[in-house]
Amino acid sequence: MAEERITDQGAKDYKEFLHPVMKKNYGQWKYHEILKPGVLVHVAESGDKIFSIRIASPRLLSTTSIRFFMSVADKYCDGFLRWTTRNNVEFLTDKEENIELIIKAVNDDGWPVGGTGRTASNVVHTQGWVHCHTSATDASGIVKALMDEVFEDFVAENLPGKLKLALACCLNMCGAVHASDISILGIHRRPPKVDYHLLGQICEIPTTIAACPTGAIRQDIVDGVKAMKVIEDQCMFCGACYTACPNMPLADPLNDGVSIWVGGKIANARSKPGFTKLVIPYIPNNPPRWPEVVDAVKKIIQVYKDNGRKWERLGEMIDRIGWAKFFKLTGFAFTKYHMDDYKLATKSYNMSAHLRF
Ligand code: SF4
Ligand code: SF4
Repeated sequence: MAEERITDQGAKDYKEFLHPVMKKNYGQWKYHEILKPGVLVHVAESGDKIFSIRIASPRLLSTTSIRFFMSVADKYCDGFLRWTTRNNVEFLTDKEENIELIIKAVNDDGWPVGGTGRTASNVVHTQGWVHCHTSATDASGIVKALMDEVFEDFVAENLPGKLKLALACCLNMCGAVHASDISILGIHRRPPKVDYHLLGQICEIPTTIAACPTGAIRQDIVDGVKAMKVIEDQCMFCGACYTACPNMPLADPLNDGVSIWVGGKIANARSKPGFTKLVIPYIPNNPPRWPEVVDAVKKIIQVYKDNGRKWERLGEMIDRIGWAKFFKLTGFAFTKYHMDDYKLATKSYNMSAHLRF
């Protein structure tokens, strides 16, 4: 047997951290059930059971909050808990009698239990203005404003099916906006502005030109000094150049904003996985509560509640009733921006029943 390599880098093997019941029954699970919103039981072939209690976290957590989660896990879960991709915290226990004790402990501290089954998920989201240099909108700010309104749909099964929510603050899409039921995506609408002041001292011009995935940056001469220019038509506002050269800021308070996409999913239950599709091309940033974005998402959720069939995902419902009816029911405008004008769009057109090129 190969000798185990010990290094001081990289993540440790996750199996070291599994709950003993999960370790013992690894790959031997028979079924799972949702006992109530936020509470699941997984039952193994051996008859062993493990219960998970899911709470929503705001993603950016204080050490005080994390210490509180640890104290609950130590008291009721033998120290076992995990974080999910949608920023939930799940407490894991093999003792059924601990479920209500955990729920009471977290509820008393203000943490809601829910987000499983036919509920709205917690929002998987990104850094926003708090941290990332390429963001076109905020992340935590919009998520807080939205979840204050959608809270009841997180803690109770009010919806036809699962409703996964996502936000990414630029088109690099660190959040799962490509395949969630409702996605909020920050968009830049203007190319980076080249700030010639100090360009030569701060940026390496060849490295910056090489950083552009579309080849939109050209060498230039300004006032007899080597500089760069951006070919606007070739720019897709990705921010890769700003990462290489801080003198090419992409953020634009007047033109940055939010787009809304719907109908994506990763599961292959009932229908194939699918990408989200554009429904609102642009809403200006309106901090601190983004009322237009919150209203638009609530409108989509209401249409889903009124028209969805039990366990039908939002995208499946739209495919059934038709996009034209979805736009009519939501009242959103269908614009030229909904047309696929990507240079390889001919392929998409040829997949349609209506157009052939
Ligand atoms: S989505 Fe864009 S702006 Fe947001 S964290 Fe990722 S790279 Fe940064
Ligand atoms: S934003 Fe992206 S596409 Fe536009 S110039 Fe910079 S690197 Fe190129």
